[in-house]
Amino acid sequence: MARAFPETLVDFQRMFPSEQACLDFLVELRWPEGFSCPSCGVVRDPQRLATRPRVLRCRECLEETSLTAGTILHATRTPIQVWFWGAYLVTSQTPGMSALQLQRQLGIGRYETAFQLVHKLRASMVRPDRDRIGPEWPVELDESLIGGRTRGEGRGVHHKATVIGAVEVRRTRDALKRRDAHEHGVPVKGQFYAGRLRLRGIPSRTEAEAEDFVTKNVEPGSRIATDGWEGYDRLRRHGYKLDPLVLNGDPDLAKRHLPMIHIVFSNLKTWLNGTHHSVSHRHLQAYLNEYVFRFNRRFYPRSMFNSVLGIAVQTKGPTYAELYDGDWAHPSQ
Ligand SMILES: [Zn+2]
Repeated sequence: MARAFPETLVDFQRMFPSEQACLDFLVELRWPEGFSCPSCGVVRDPQRLATRPRVLRCRECLEETSLTAGTILHATRTPIQVWFWGAYLVTSQTPGMSALQLQRQLGIGRYETAFQLVHKLRASMVRPDRDRIGPEWPVELDESLIGGRTRGEGRGVHHKATVIGAVEVRRTRDALKRRDAHEHGVPVKGQFYAGRLRLRGIPSRTEAEAEDFVTKNVEPGSRIATDGWEGYDRLRRHGYKLDPLVLNGDPDLAKRHLPMIHIVFSNLKTWLNGTHHSVSHRHLQAYLNEYVFRFNRRFYPRSMFNSVLGIAVQTKGPTYAELYDGDWAHPSQ
């Protein structure tokens, strides 16, 4: 399905000049084979209502279907065109955008509306049917402490959160490909460059957390480089081939043994502190999801806009209340 991506602001404006154009695009995303009535199952162009543009009426059984029900756009009072602008800005700016920047760019009245908008977009940055990484490439696995912000304590580092991450290490002898990777911000070391990434915020480093993260994110049979922590040993039971660091007193050894995941963690911290001025623990996973989404699509950044909206139409997003009272669990990796 070759659907056009907006590559420039001019493209974007031409593709989405009106609320109606955005709604038509959503219909296409939700029903790529043509609208099929959820009530009677008939596949036929629906009736559109001028007074209620988000409603599709089946020409067969006359049942009405809400275009936004069951999606992150459910019951939004914000025009769909503003959502599209938000998705475009968040995905086309290299480091992404904070809620405050988005509020200013889109002229959104309340900060809370912009905050909710970016978090709903972030909920659309984890593909529910994503693959596990590996096994044709070795994987580096490690944990890192990330400075967090606790509500009511203001900005700055107060408490650390633990993040566990796994990244594929791909190899190429093609210097052009390595340069291309480098120019896309992908970590490169000698003949190696970083492939796909997965990150999860965890309460602390335990065997059980590592086991759950790895079995959900890395294909069994993969070779996994780790530090010397014995907590990883039980991963062997799941068919992983472990390559633990053997200490011999060399302080640079860890860096050489796990170069890619160390660069990932370092860039992640820069991004969290720079673009987002550090984030609260409660929402850390949402930011990790955005980081991974961007990282894994660096070679084809233009597809990010369609990916976000494509996931958005199959995903329920958090309400404002859920975001603030903590009832919402950001999708995990
Ligand atoms: Zn019908």
